[in-house]
Amino acid sequence: MDIPVNAMVRWSGVEGRPLIIAGPCAAESEAQVLEAADRLAPSRVDYLRAGIWKARTRPDSFEGIGAPALAWLRRAGDRHGMRTATEVAHGDHVDAALEAGIDLLWIGARTTVNPFSVQELANALRGTDVPVLVKNPTAPDLGLWIGALERMSRAGIRDLGAIHRGVSVANAAPYRNAPMWSLVLELRRRLPDLPILTDPSHICGRRDLLAGVAQRAMDLGLDGLMIEAHPNPDQAWSDAAQQVTPERMGEIVAELAVRRHDEDAAFAASVEGLREEIDRLDEHLLDLVAQRMEVVDRIAGQKRDRNVAPLQLRRWMIVLENRLARGRQLGLDEAYVKGLYDLIHRESIRRQSVLMSGTLAGEDGPDPAPPTGE
Ligand code: PEP
Ligand code: MN
Repeated sequence: MDIPVNAMVRWSGVEGRPLIIAGPCAAESEAQVLEAADRLAPSRVDYLRAGIWKARTRPDSFEGIGAPALAWLRRAGDRHGMRTATEVAHGDHVDAALEAGIDLLWIGARTTVNPFSVQELANALRGTDVPVLVKNPTAPDLGLWIGALERMSRAGIRDLGAIHRGVSVANAAPYRNAPMWSLVLELRRRLPDLPILTDPSHICGRRDLLAGVAQRAMDLGLDGLMIEAHPNPDQAWSDAAQQVTPERMGEIVAELAVRRHDEDAAFAASVEGLREEIDRLDEHLLDLVAQRMEVVDRIAGQKRDRNVAPLQLRRWMIVLENRLARGRQLGLDEAYVKGLYDLIHRESIRRQSVLMSGTLAGEDGPDPAPPTGE
């Protein structure tokens, strides 16, 4: 798959620091949008955001002011020479936003899940040159995210990027949406040139966690942040708990540690020895895993002969308890050791099932990792 994209600097002018999109979840009144812009202006904000049409989970929530608020956003931006951004979900949103002079459009998580809607947007965007950012769908479905990017690409959009806003899972605690960083890293692996921003606000759902998630995005080399900022967050008509004041938004960005992600030859040489050591250890690690599976296969033979089920719950509980204790002694994070053993054990059960009954169990691939709140 080929999705040609322009470098972010081409359309945003931003290079060597994160691109920042900030502003209220929703435009509520002209005064509120203007105040947000006035108070964001001292921080380096590249695009002023505000939701005009709000896709809400429940029908009795505030669904946005609609088209009249576009002029508020444009006026607030103009007052400070700030570019503007809003979410679009229908073709006529695109037409109205472009007509009002909005500078960047994004596709929300509840829209990316629906290829009909995404295609409608692509059709409306064909022939325009507005930058478009596509949020990940609410479900952890990379194919759907890439599919939406492809539809934009086929409509000729080259100023294209993605926004990572977490995914809806049964247990995302302490977050509102599990960050699932592995999804973003896989997107980056598949489309290395695509700019990717993180939206800590919709991941966290609460303001005290924003800074940590924003820093993690920087540590992974992502290209920017979308942060919700409201003049009076507690009184916001939508997403109150996750919004911060414009001043706090500025602090979060100012305190980010932004490090280099390209390594030069001198650095590569200085860590070469350590990397060789890691390569050697990984080789051992895989040898050991393979040896462990061979022993599992031998046990499977005995279980089959004596008609014993592959999963012996009591034995598994003892094994896990014991490995967690060992992990603690070694200073390893408990959730990490638990995840590791879930993976090892799942594969061990799958192999035993196949060996013992010749079923095709597991051929549809491993279960997704259980949500870890990560
Ligand atoms: C938003 O940015 O206000 C929004 C609705 O986000 P998401 O589509 O990520 O839920
Ligand atoms: Mn919001």
